[in-house]
Amino acid sequence: MASSPSRAGRGRLFVISGPSGAGKGTVVQKLLQRRPEIVLSVSVTTRPARQAERNGVHYTFISEPEFKGMRDRGDLLESAEVYGNYYGTPRPPVEAALAAGKDVICELDIQGAESIKRAKPEAILVFIEPPSMEDLHSRLRNRGTETPGDMSTRIDAAYAEMKRKALYDHIVINDRLDDAVAEMLRILER
Ligand code: ADP
Ligand code: 5GP
Repeated sequence: MASSPSRAGRGRLFVISGPSGAGKGTVVQKLLQRRPEIVLSVSVTTRPARQAERNGVHYTFISEPEFKGMRDRGDLLESAEVYGNYYGTPRPPVEAALAAGKDVICELDIQGAESIKRAKPEAILVFIEPPSMEDLHSRLRNRGTETPGDMSTRIDAAYAEMKRKALYDHIVINDRLDDAVAEMLRILER
C-alpha cells in the first residue's frame, strides 16, 4: 500500500461533502466497515434527530445556546449554518486522533470544507455526487426523512453545491455504491 509522509506522524484529514441525498453517509459507513481504524468525526448539530439516528453516533444533538457556547469558546474546528440549522466539528477529538497518527473523516458542507482548507491546507477534500439530479430527487424521496419543504431546500442547495465542486481534490460519482466505495479506498490509499 502506498504511504504518504503524514502516515508516519500525524494522521490525514479527509473532508467529504456533496449534496444532501448523494449518499455521503452510506458511502462513509461502507468505507468504515472496510477501514475500521479510520476515525469518523461526530459533528454537533441543532437539527432534530431523524428516527434512525442515535445521539453521539450520527451526531451529537444539542440546543442552539449549547452550540453557540461551544463555538464561542473555540471548541469547534469549523461551524456553519446549513439548511437552517447549525452544524459544527468538535475540535478536541479531531486534533487528538490526528496527533495519534490516525486518519480522520469529517462529513461537512461546502462552507465547512472551505474553512478546513483554510485552517489545514493539507486536508484532502472529496466531493461525492449523484449520477444525476433525477437520482438525487429519488434518493431523497426514498429516504423519506425530510418534509417536502425541507426536501426542496436541499434540492435547491444541491444545484449551487454542484457548481462549486472544483474546490475539491477528488470527485466521486456515487452511481453503484460498491464502485464509489472502491474509489474512496483508492483515494485513501494514495
Ligand atoms: P447523504 O448522506 O449524502 O445525505 P445518504 O447516505 O443518506 O445521503 O443517502 C441518501 C439515500 O440514497 C439513502 O436512502 C441511501 O440508502 C440511498 N443511496 C445511497 N447510495 C446509493 C446508491 N449508490 N444507489 C442507490 N441509492 C443510494
Ligand atoms: P444532514 O442534516 O443531512 O445530516 O446534513 C446537512 C448538511 O450538513 C450536509 O451537507 C452535511 O455534510 C453537513 N454537515 C454535517 N455536519 C457538519 C459539520 O460539522 N459542519 C459543517 N460545516 N457541515 C456539516
